[in-house]
Amino acid sequence: MELNKLLRKSIANLKPYSSARDEYTGEAMVFLDANENPFNEPYNRYPDPLQRTVKEKISQLKNVDPSNIFLGNGSDEPIDLLIRAFCEPGVDNIVSIDPTYGMYQVAAEISDVKLKKVSLTAEYELDVEALLAACDSNTKLIFLCSPNNPTANSLAKESILKVVKSFDGLVILDEAYIDFAPGKTLLSELAGYPNLVILQTFSKAWGMAGIRLGMAFASVEIVSVLNKIKYPYNLNILTQQKALELLKQNEQVEAWVKLLIDEREKMAAKLKALPFVVKVFPSDANFLLVKMHDARGIYQYLVDAGIIVRDRSKVYLCDDSLRITIGSKEENKILRKTLKNLIS
Ligand SMILES: *Cc1c(COP(=O)(O)O)cnc(C)c1O
Repeated sequence: MELNKLLRKSIANLKPYSSARDEYTGEAMVFLDANENPFNEPYNRYPDPLQRTVKEKISQLKNVDPSNIFLGNGSDEPIDLLIRAFCEPGVDNIVSIDPTYGMYQVAAEISDVKLKKVSLTAEYELDVEALLAACDSNTKLIFLCSPNNPTANSLAKESILKVVKSFDGLVILDEAYIDFAPGKTLLSELAGYPNLVILQTFSKAWGMAGIRLGMAFASVEIVSVLNKIKYPYNLNILTQQKALELLKQNEQVEAWVKLLIDEREKMAAKLKALPFVVKVFPSDANFLLVKMHDARGIYQYLVDAGIIVRDRSKVYLCDDSLRITIGSKEENKILRKTLKNLIS
């Protein structure tokens, strides 16, 4: 794979905006270069465009060099940037799995890029042959998601790597839920595969969906492309500060994850015992996909009781299924009690 050939011509030729803070990065005493207001410290200053301090901390935590990290306004940002950098509108296409996270398709359509969906198997496994067969000479990106949303399972590592090895373009592996699947990340494989991009996020295990912070791990060349086309100050000061604070509390995060995994297993066992539950699918995430008789009716019953879950019954391969996020012990108990009341 030659990255420059894969890139859109307009992006390869683009001269990016150079901000005042790109040109000077030292520790000066007087900053009169960016037309900032001298008052209202520290919010008067533009944030670090490359978020060096945050990346340093993430680098230690993930054991990945800072030059292989891109930070964005949620995972949504790298998803959008990758499409805009590599896919010529109206010409190139993307291949992804079905069912999966809806954002890949939306981001593709916004850029007038076609996304071709390849069905997972009945067991929600990757069909490597079908996926590769769906690719043509204009397929620039493949989006995979593991653990997958909404099916909750992890895709087999060997299948993912087979796709990465066989495809002459970028494979974007969305690991938004990977903290709930200990030992299954492919991050340690990154160095061996220059066409692999791994997405992770602070929105799930880290409990920071509100600050909008997503990570992309990739080769230095791919990270440079993303840096070149992002908004210069894509992560604001508040997000960077809050992220640094929470990165110091990673034991707290580990405790949350442990509790949520325990609660997930307990929830799965108790739901299986309910007479209207047909199947609780195995989960490597912080949610359960549950197939039940009259899922739509049960969804409405829960809404009326003030409990909102996600109705996935219209989603391909997910008929009659609800997606239930694992909450606090108390929230989970309320859900189970409300569902039990349905029996009588
Ligand atoms: C929740 C989720 C994300 C997170 O997106 P952010 O923009 O980082 O909040 C990414 N991918 C998948 C599959 C998700 O379910």
